[in-house]
Amino acid sequence: VTATQAPDRRCTEPPVSALLTAYCFGDADHVTCERVQEHLLACPVCWDEVLRLEATVEVLRRDPHISPQPVTAEAVALVTIDGHGEHRFAGHVGFAVLSSGLYAALNAASVWTELAYQFARFEHLALWLVPATFASMFVGMLAVMWLGVRFERGARPMGLVASLLAFSLLTVISLVVTVALLPHEQVVHATFSTRAAGAAHVKSVLSYFVILAVLYVLVPWQAIIGLERELVQGRVGNTLALLRHDADAFHPTGVWYLRPSVLGWLFAFNVPFSIVGGNYLLDHLVPGPYSSWFAVALYIRMALWFVVAGAGLGWYVRRLQDVKRLALLMTKLSAQP
Ligand SMILES: [Zn+2]
Repeated sequence: VTATQAPDRRCTEPPVSALLTAYCFGDADHVTCERVQEHLLACPVCWDEVLRLEATVEVLRRDPHISPQPVTAEAVALVTIDGHGEHRFAGHVGFAVLSSGLYAALNAASVWTELAYQFARFEHLALWLVPATFASMFVGMLAVMWLGVRFERGARPMGLVASLLAFSLLTVISLVVTVALLPHEQVVHATFSTRAAGAAHVKSVLSYFVILAVLYVLVPWQAIIGLERELVQGRVGNTLALLRHDADAFHPTGVWYLRPSVLGWLFAFNVPFSIVGGNYLLDHLVPGPYSSWFAVALYIRMALWFVVAGAGLGWYVRRLQDVKRLALLMTKLSAQP
């Protein structure tokens, strides 16, 4: 091995390297096998990759959790699934970070909305309370989702209960602290009687945000993690029946499988309510120097609600498709002799 080879570890024939997975899983035909074997003699990069893949194949074939079915390259490509809790956030770090960040932004936007109307008076409070709300809710939601994964292991999965309890605790603590810090007076002036800033924030959180986090983030989160666990533990039949809405399918322990269509209808139903409610308040607003700031903050808060819901629903639909594809594949494989 010379020094010049080390940094330049590239395959000399990329079209052949694309065949390695099929080769290792015994899915390649005779001609392909010969072509790969010939290339392996010349290419150290592909040789290392074959050693790595062979080790993976060996583990998958011996792992008692992954039913005694033959494992194909196609199945492994689909298995971004983590049934043993080896990956952070069960392999769904992206969604955990995105949804926690968006939900934290929604809460921060609510605090901002309550202070923006009298920004000149509450500038100092707003400039630290808004980022502090974001940071604490972001970390808090990540912790809730992490706990949901952590408690999903074991004989009796308690992920859903754990994450809902942790989320309730997070909500109560954040409300108590925020209400104590927000002004105890009406900040927003409208022609109808408005609530004090703290009470208005509590109302937003309890009537709009909590239901959003539970239905569009936490329940889908636990459902996907639970269904992936079911597949990895070999319970394919019921998972497929559940996704096909068969009458005799049951919800496995710790899984509340909420149909995406229900979430879709709720989303659509909330659009007119949200717009009418927001515009009613803006139409009855007493003009002030920062009215437009308040209006923008209100619209941002409304938009964020729909972004959180849309992101959660989109992720849920895509992951359910993955679970279904894998379940179908496992069924097909087990039907083979
Ligand atoms: Zn190569």
